[in-house]
Amino acid sequence: GTWETKLDTPTFKGSLSLNTGLFIDGKWVDPVEGGKIDVVNPATGKVITSVAVGTGKDVDIAVEAAKKAFKSKWGFKVPGTERGRLLNKLADLIEANLDELAALESLNVGKPFTMSKMVDVKASIQVLRYYAGWADKIHGKTIETNENKFAYTRHEPYGVVGQIIPWNFPLTMLSWKIAPAVATGNCCVLKPSEITPLTALKVAGMINEAGFPPGVINIVNGYGITVGAAISAHPDIRKVAFTGSTIVGRKIQEASAKSNLKVVSLELGGKSPNVIFDDADFEQAVKWAALGIYANMGQICTAGSRIFVQEGIYDKFLAAFTQASKALQSATGDPFAATTQHGPQVSQVQFDRIMGYLDSARKDGATIHIGGERHGNEGYFIQPTIVTDCKPDMKIVREEVFGPVAAIIKFKTEEEAIEMANDTNYGLAAAVFTENNSRAVRVAHALEAGTTWVNCYNSSEIQTPFGGYKQSGFGRELGEYALETYTQVKAVHVNIGLKL
Ligand code: NAD
Repeated sequence: GTWETKLDTPTFKGSLSLNTGLFIDGKWVDPVEGGKIDVVNPATGKVITSVAVGTGKDVDIAVEAAKKAFKSKWGFKVPGTERGRLLNKLADLIEANLDELAALESLNVGKPFTMSKMVDVKASIQVLRYYAGWADKIHGKTIETNENKFAYTRHEPYGVVGQIIPWNFPLTMLSWKIAPAVATGNCCVLKPSEITPLTALKVAGMINEAGFPPGVINIVNGYGITVGAAISAHPDIRKVAFTGSTIVGRKIQEASAKSNLKVVSLELGGKSPNVIFDDADFEQAVKWAALGIYANMGQICTAGSRIFVQEGIYDKFLAAFTQASKALQSATGDPFAATTQHGPQVSQVQFDRIMGYLDSARKDGATIHIGGERHGNEGYFIQPTIVTDCKPDMKIVREEVFGPVAAIIKFKTEEEAIEMANDTNYGLAAAVFTENNSRAVRVAHALEAGTTWVNCYNSSEIQTPFGGYKQSGFGRELGEYALETYTQVKAVHVNIGLKL
């Protein structure tokens, strides 16, 4: 009630309302002792609204609600068909509010409206429906042992799971988290990013209408150091799923170790290589490589930020990629304009961080081939940027920039390309472009990454598992694999004849 707010967006003048409180136990509540945080439109730098922020005390209340729900009205007490039905209902409600949710996502994150609509909201709906389909197909096995025993496994939910998500895909990340968790019978306490809470709040407002019992899905906005830390250290949360930076991922793992050894899955950062051979379909390689690094303004954990190009096509590729970058720059601007393909970075902090990386690249002797400057004079826009003359030990080559910055690097041989591509602490994604099938498969297998694309980039499917190698994290989301992320296996031994 007290937190009801109305927002103006270019697509919904004055008509878009949402509740900005904490959503706990099926109710909108005030934080016990938290305050408010301003939510900023990154296209203008102006405050949109403010939302409640909780503290560890609100996490405690949410965990109690989730425990109570799990014990009495969720888990395997509710048939999978029913859990699936509710997830489908939530998907329907999101679909019915597609334009509104897309507008909120664009307003808060700066994504071009058409992208919010066609990518973010659509993908969220698909993921909810995909796991709704799995909800009544969670099977154990019967296992042959001996004549006197009936042995079988159950894939049981953990109970209360904590989920902490970043700002780059607020709605999509929320659905990746809650859909498999709830489908497998868990109850959730989810913390959106404090920078981008709006779509999570809108969805929270649909959870009761979808029919979920109170306490099954709780959404507690707040800062990482308070709400996030409380989730990762909570003694009654049995599993925590985190998507965000590697540095915070370490803290989550540490908090788990120091509290109750809750099971941890981490989806972290990346510095993904995109390897383009002389024999690639040239035009396609240029287009996919541009999508690979510039999609979502470079704020994708799988961003193909190191583009390795074989020497025979290097000059031609650089020229074509420069053209593609210029074209994108001329389609940069207001996220709500129909022609816009490239919006602002999410925040001032992120803007400064990217500019800091470009300064370091200049100081280290790399060349800013194109871009590298602010676009316009308000908001957090950065031009699509190409960096050349890179050396393997430069920060711009080693660290995740999380912005529209491509490092383009020349290579000679396949062996050299693989070695350079794998010379990173990360291992989230990688790609290879070649028309030679044997080479494509050979290189795809040699690249150390949880996802390797052949002749495409950032082309993801909800049916395939997603997650990292090396310091990009562990555990898998999406596909059938995510069911394992949210269940624990119990072996049941039934004695049917052995007498002592
Ligand atoms: P971040 O790690 O700063 O924040 C992520 C979330 O963790 C936020 O909700 C934040 O409030 C919370 N958090 C911060 N400190 C915390 C703490 N001490 N304890 C618990 N929670 C805490 O990352 P970000 O800036 O929001 O997002 C950008 C990063 O996320 C990038 O590094 C990117 O690669 C990564 N990312 C990874 C994936 C993936 O699937 N692998 C997807 C999106 C983003």
